[in-house]
Amino acid sequence: MILMAKGATPDDIARVCDRVRQLGFTPHEIPGSVRVAIGITGNQGPVPPEHFQSLSGVAECIPVSRPYKLVSREVKPEPTVVSVRGASIGGGGLAVIAGPCSVESRDQVFRTAEAVAATGAKFFRGGAFKPRTSPYVFQGLKEEGLRLLDEVRQHFDLRIVTEVKDTETLSAVAQAADVLQIGARNMQNFSLLEAVGRLKRPVLLKRGMSATLQELFMAAEYLLALGNYQVLLCERGIRTFETMTRNTFDLSAVVMIKHHTHLPVVADPSHGVGIDWAVAPLARASVVAGADAVMVEVHPDPSRALSDGQQSLTFDAYRALAADLARLDAWRSG
Ligand code: PEP
Ligand code: MN
Repeated sequence: MILMAKGATPDDIARVCDRVRQLGFTPHEIPGSVRVAIGITGNQGPVPPEHFQSLSGVAECIPVSRPYKLVSREVKPEPTVVSVRGASIGGGGLAVIAGPCSVESRDQVFRTAEAVAATGAKFFRGGAFKPRTSPYVFQGLKEEGLRLLDEVRQHFDLRIVTEVKDTETLSAVAQAADVLQIGARNMQNFSLLEAVGRLKRPVLLKRGMSATLQELFMAAEYLLALGNYQVLLCERGIRTFETMTRNTFDLSAVVMIKHHTHLPVVADPSHGVGIDWAVAPLARASVVAGADAVMVEVHPDPSRALSDGQQSLTFDAYRALAADLARLDAWRSG
């Protein structure tokens, strides 16, 4: 990584990027509030600093020791803030993302969106294309679900987070989504990562159910390497020997992601634990651990939900949790 001096000019930066390209590598200008850093990818081994040290505006050449580069705090010490139509995730306050697992009907999404917006949350989640373990269960309302999400977006001050399941439906999903969710099962779908990276739209990337944190960071690296820095990393539980919970919600991941990367962290205790009454304490713990956003599933009648009812909060339970989260957010920033 090449760290530019405070007074480096755009010409200085362009010259360094040209030199990187002449060497056969790819330069990445990394946004920073004070100084510009230029990351280098495409190199197999170390790149000798002598190539750059004498160029005007260059302050320092720093070898990046880890396989992930652009997501790393080494390369960008200040936290990334992802801004979505006036609402941001990262850099301080807590964001809440809430909504049903799946979009099921107009009545269901509108009632839920009303309850979510009333708590002051700015993000609404809901899947239209659902990746389901069984081919015999509800697969989502698909295009009709996207239309309903678009209606929600027009009626409420809510930004839409919805999953993109494959490259075939990406352009349709991208029209309804403010934030594209890449699900746990697709974390290492590299064609999808590349297609989404090229779109340069905000992405919520979920940790694969058996993925290490380094694998999660490398998956995010695909997006950043294509110039898309608007990436949120989501802990949603991992598979362990434990069977009493749906997954094992890895609270340490929240701490580790924040330590090792500059990207905002989203905690998803709904999928993390998979049991309605256990969601709130883990959501609260995530805020204490430093999560930038909490994502929870909410349904008007969880017992009749077409997916993930067992972990969905009622409106009352959601309202109580939202109030707790607001208090924790104030405590954390005060
Ligand atoms: C979801 O958010 O509803 C979902 C399917 O999540 P995951 O990919 O984490 O299982
Ligand atoms: Mn779900």
